[in-house]
Amino acid sequence: MTWTSPYFTEEEMACSHTGISDMDPQFMDKLTSLRADWGQPMVVTSAYRHPTHPIEARKEKPGAHASGRAVDIAVSGEDAYKLLCAALGHGFTGVGIAQKGPHGGRFIHLDDLTEEEGWPRPTIWSY
Ligand SMILES: [Zn+2]
Repeated sequence: MTWTSPYFTEEEMACSHTGISDMDPQFMDKLTSLRADWGQPMVVTSAYRHPTHPIEARKEKPGAHASGRAVDIAVSGEDAYKLLCAALGHGFTGVGIAQKGPHGGRFIHLDDLTEEEGWPRPTIWSY
């Protein structure tokens, strides 16, 4: 499966543990359209995570990032509010809000998993 985007590279979407980049093309289309709408650089701190990635390996079953349909975007304050508003209009169904502590460590998780696929969606959570 391959995809291209004017905004994102295979490298930045790759698993930090294995180097494997296995993002879902349809998810990347969605993310690209959100990025175009949002109109400013998007700092991806985590995208694809292989099931052997330490964060996924300790879960009962691999999480959203192992599906290739999730990203964490470094954002806080007013930008976080605006990104959230835009994301809700682009079909993202899983929203994780990490907005505590130093602004540099804050992020928003977005995925587009579905209830039919066995995930509790739509949903929103905090970290
Ligand atoms: Zn995430």
